[in-house]
Amino acid sequence: MSEVINVAEIFGKNVFNETVMREYLPKGVFKKLKKTMEDGADLDPSIADVVAHAMKDWAIKRGATHYTHWFQPLTGVTAEKHDSFISAPNAEGKVIMEFSGKELIKGEPDASSFPSGGLRATFEARGYTMWDCTSPAFLREDALGVTLCIPTAFCSYTGEALDQKTPLLRSMQAIDAQSLRILRLFGNTTAHRVVPSVGPEQEYFLVDRAKYLQRKDLIYAGRTLFGAMPPKGQELEDHYFGAIRERIGGYMKEVNQELWKLGVTAKTQHNEVAPAQHELAPIYDQVNLAVDHNQMVMETLKKVAGRHGMTCLLHEKPFAGVNGSGKHNNWSLISDDGINLMNPGETPHENVQFLLVLGCVMKAIDTHADLLRESASDVGNDHRLGANEAPPAIISIFLGEQLEDVIDQLCSTGEATHSKKGGKLMTGIATLPELDKDATDRNRTSPFAFTGNKFEFRMVGSSDSIAPPNVVLNTIVAEAFKEAADELEKAEDFPSAVHDMIKRLLSEHKRIIFNGNGYSDAWVEEAEKRGLPNIRSMVDAIPALTTEKAVKLYETFGVFTRAELESRAEVEYEAYAKAINIEARTMMDMAGKQIIPAVIKYTTQLANSLTSVKAACPEADVSVQSELLIETSDLLSDMKVALAALEQLTVESASVEDAQARAHAYHDKVVPAMAALRTPADQLEMIVDKELWPFPSYGDLIFEV
Ligand code: ADP
Ligand code: MG
Repeated sequence: MSEVINVAEIFGKNVFNETVMREYLPKGVFKKLKKTMEDGADLDPSIADVVAHAMKDWAIKRGATHYTHWFQPLTGVTAEKHDSFISAPNAEGKVIMEFSGKELIKGEPDASSFPSGGLRATFEARGYTMWDCTSPAFLREDALGVTLCIPTAFCSYTGEALDQKTPLLRSMQAIDAQSLRILRLFGNTTAHRVVPSVGPEQEYFLVDRAKYLQRKDLIYAGRTLFGAMPPKGQELEDHYFGAIRERIGGYMKEVNQELWKLGVTAKTQHNEVAPAQHELAPIYDQVNLAVDHNQMVMETLKKVAGRHGMTCLLHEKPFAGVNGSGKHNNWSLISDDGINLMNPGETPHENVQFLLVLGCVMKAIDTHADLLRESASDVGNDHRLGANEAPPAIISIFLGEQLEDVIDQLCSTGEATHSKKGGKLMTGIATLPELDKDATDRNRTSPFAFTGNKFEFRMVGSSDSIAPPNVVLNTIVAEAFKEAADELEKAEDFPSAVHDMIKRLLSEHKRIIFNGNGYSDAWVEEAEKRGLPNIRSMVDAIPALTTEKAVKLYETFGVFTRAELESRAEVEYEAYAKAINIEARTMMDMAGKQIIPAVIKYTTQLANSLTSVKAACPEADVSVQSELLIETSDLLSDMKVALAALEQLTVESASVEDAQARAHAYHDKVVPAMAALRTPADQLEMIVDKELWPFPSYGDLIFEV
């Protein structure tokens, strides 16, 4: 039997949370810090020394030897540089443990080694990490020992954001201010702050570590670049929600415990659609914490996998032919007096505030679909979006029957008089409880679905940060709220002005609503007729960042400057070209050093057997051997041709000077050349003796974890 876990006892054990702060901080300091954390008040620098001292005492008591500023540069993962607490030895050779307010507030990592997309060239190389006290410090326990991690924002010498956190915090200020204006219009006087709430559902794959280490593609690219489908894929749908096997169960149990200690509310876990695929979701939290926690979830999933002899793959598409992984970003706006702006209530047709919010969300998404699409693009996600499993690359909103009916009533007659009800769930079995149904069924194919009291953005890639999509959501909805409030605050007759505005918003942006099957070809055609953008790849999505529309939006709310947007576009083009370059080179390596030699060995064996059989028995039928020999040799020569082409195109693309043009070269030339090399290799895998094949197959990887 396993030991009993007291979740309540371990939860938040490694977090410098309110309980710890109360214990370690003088009352006045605690109050000031809490005001900054909760109300967004200015941070009083004079308290930094006291807080640093308390943090150090607490951390050292818990065994910490080092501290680190933990930040989120534009690499998609987190970064940290560790310093120990020790001072220079005194005359007797003794050290003391030190940590000052200055060290807490400010760090100075060398910014020049992080992606900055040209900001470095135009400005200074210096970069600063700054304490983000809205996200609590935490202790990380691992092979390094215990480290005090201080969440920080990362900016250049002149204040440009070099990370994911800074624009996120700026966008939170924007949506806060504009949401309050909407609430005030409807008579609310008690709310002081509106914060986006986010619950991200994280998908991942687990593979056996020993097998992983035999695949260079998994090691270098995080996904398989070759691999024939096994006889069984996901067609039986027997993995989804299936019983969790012991090895995986032991892993999940440890992941949960590690996360609970870090104050991450790991809540749900289940097997996903593809074999070897799983999901973990926490309870939603305010967006900046949700972003930090999601990074911790990804780190923990990877770290714990190693301890269980497995590797966690966070890539969006580790295996062709079975589903890839994403991250559903559930988003709503909640005020400090407990109002969820996305809650329609029982009778949405009467909920004027909700209808206005809904109209604004529709306008925001319709106007800035390109930005939202861009926020979910990363190299791996190009394999999912629009590929019949994840949401299509076209942005649309699913509202469900009930809300769509309310919109129809408003748009056709100008009045909404009723809301459809869900009714009772009829099972035909007397012993089952009678349940009230939701007014609306689900739609799994929509990229942006209303799910009762929140919107679920489903395009985000599994390895990506959830910061960018939330920056977009916060800012575009802030803009729609601002435009509504600007007009309504001046209206003489508020009820009729808001009524007209709702009708106008709903009818003007109705084209963004789609309740049908988002995976169908018919939708692609229909969307084109409606004029909705269908942006198929990351390289095609990036230009959305720097349109005049985007610059105006972001500069209005102080979320990004033009220079910051341009730098981000540059960073993304670079990231794309580099990732494809690594994939292409890995393929060349595997093809040239592993697959081709194995196939030659196989053909040699075949040829030898052919001649020896012939010699022993000239009448024997050796047609099978000779046909195989011809087929294999043909495929081998196809591979050699494709390999040469890939080599040449990769060299050519690498030499393109301009980052955008280089990314396009990789996308337009190298990616198809990679596919051309993979096809004969995968066919050969089906022919060549398994004993000779140089690395584990798909079957070995996903069915034998
Ligand atoms: P569903 O099955 O409806 O997708 P779940 O209960 O599995 O919902 O929740 C998915 C995620 O959405 C969880 O992280 C959950 O905490 C989060 N969530 C629930 N309500 C809200 C909300 N109002 N705002 C943001 N996230 C929410
Ligand atoms: Mg969900």
